Amino acid sequence: MTTPLWRDVTAEIPLTALPSGLRVDVAVVGAGFTGLHTALLLARAGLRVAVVEARRVGAGASGATTAKATLLQRTRLSDIADRHGRDAAAAYLAANDFGLEWMAGFCRDHDVPVERTRAVTFSTTDDGAEAVRREYATARDLGLPVELIEHPAEEFATHLAVALPDMLQLDPADLLVALGRAVVDAGGSIHDHTRVTGLDSGADGVTVETTAGTLHAGKVVLATASPILDHGRTTMSLAAQRSYLCAYRAPGPLPEGMFISAEEPTISLRTARVDGDEWLLVGGQGHPTGQEADTGARLADLDAWADHHVPGARRTHAWSAQDYHPVSMLPVVEKLSWGGDRVFFAGGYSKWGLAAAPAAAHIVADLVAGREPTLTFGSPSVAATAATTASTLTKAATAAAGHLAGALTGEPTRGPDDSSVLDEGEAATGRAGVRPVGESVVDGRTCRVSLLCTHMGGLLEWNEVEQSWDCPLHGSRFAADGTVLEGPAVKDLPQVE
Ligand SMILES: Cc1cc2nc3c(=O)[nH]c(=O)nc-3n(C[C@H](O)[C@H](O)[C@H](O)COP(=O)(O)OP(=O)(O)OC[C@H]3O[C@@H](n4cnc5c(N)ncnc54)[C@H](O)[C@@H]3O)c2cc1C
Repeated sequence: MTTPLWRDVTAEIPLTALPSGLRVDVAVVGAGFTGLHTALLLARAGLRVAVVEARRVGAGASGATTAKATLLQRTRLSDIADRHGRDAAAAYLAANDFGLEWMAGFCRDHDVPVERTRAVTFSTTDDGAEAVRREYATARDLGLPVELIEHPAEEFATHLAVALPDMLQLDPADLLVALGRAVVDAGGSIHDHTRVTGLDSGADGVTVETTAGTLHAGKVVLATASPILDHGRTTMSLAAQRSYLCAYRAPGPLPEGMFISAEEPTISLRTARVDGDEWLLVGGQGHPTGQEADTGARLADLDAWADHHVPGARRTHAWSAQDYHPVSMLPVVEKLSWGGDRVFFAGGYSKWGLAAAPAAAHIVADLVAGREPTLTFGSPSVAATAATTASTLTKAATAAAGHLAGALTGEPTRGPDDSSVLDEGEAATGRAGVRPVGESVVDGRTCRVSLLCTHMGGLLEWNEVEQSWDCPLHGSRFAADGTVLEGPAVKDLPQVE
């Protein structure tokens, strides 16, 4: 299993068990940045708010993030401008600017240490340099004080770079603790290890089924990264992308700033100070969840990069996490069509949620209150989104059909008479009748589970780095024993004898 550099914050936040029959104005599902920012705004507005978290505070991307809070987000401004026009890019930037300032103010008021530094998008090829030039031009046009650097000092940045001064980096655990405490101070409650498994929306509110009992809420905000319980357009419009992060102790001097490459596969780096020691974080190597057979090779590639560019770097931590990329590129904050005007979703930040989540929280808080939001992430161009949606849905349908066909006809890695013993951390697939089955050995325990995702029936793939079964369709993930970990699924995989 992988371990983040960031600490588990559970002991630092007042958490309570879900009281039986609790009634609140708003149930916020998910205790990452989106859920905690949203709960804080709603509780401060005088509403009774309960945050319900399936695992622990920060169990998703928020507790595993690189935590660069910046308005220069690789080449996103020019990419959005190209796809949806300048107005959409300007709106996206304004919302992120608001979110960043709001978060910086919160950190100031709650003694969360932040480091001001520059954000840099660098390139290593001519094509990358062209992308950097476009980002510089768009960012300038939108009023950001970016600088084009012809000859970056860092040896890994061989071509052009664009830099934006005065952005923020922090320890995400510090921010999660401060947000969690602020929610409770404002009168809200946080209930961890409580998974939401069903929502029933009626005339007088929503009945929220959880693994710890039933809760009644006037409205519900799904801050679950992917919209749980949704089987429609919102889920289909989000692609789950996993990425890897490694922390290294390395002899200095280390590069100053928060860097990201314009090219794929992405390399993202920054320094991090934890308990007085300094680490170099190197991340990237993203891929669609459940669609990488050799996840270990992704970590090995990050090690190879660090070894080459930072001689003497010694890896101390390695972990991975996922965020969701909307087809439109623009974060999704909306009322869900099936929720009877009472269920909302906010997410889809394409791995740029530090500034976007507080902005999304303001938008969803307005929607919950029945107000027209004052912020927007911009309107997608109808033509561009229709084209991309069609192509994404076709790809998804092809992948789903391929997986189903594979499930029914593909060669299992383990036949019915195969009695070979799996080593620790290994997994194999087989069949019980026509049903695909996965067998794995983790911590000395052998588990056999159904390999069809409990969300929409995708055929799960073994992830050797996380020792989990991952779904290539919508990013649901399950532990070796079938326990649901994350993604839109809410039910565990059935065990198979
Ligand atoms: C590797 C990586 C690096 C990143 N680096 C950066 C960066 O440098 N800068 C940046 O701006 N952004 C970055 N991001 C993105 C950023 O971290 C995310 O956009 C942000 O943390 C998302 O917050 P969230 O609260 O929406 O989702 P999450 O943090 O994923 O929270 C969702 C929560 O919902 C809970 N949940 C799910 N289902 C249920 C259920 N049924 N019942 C109850 N609870 C449930 C989960 O357990 C989880 O705690 C990165 C992302 C990744 C993956």
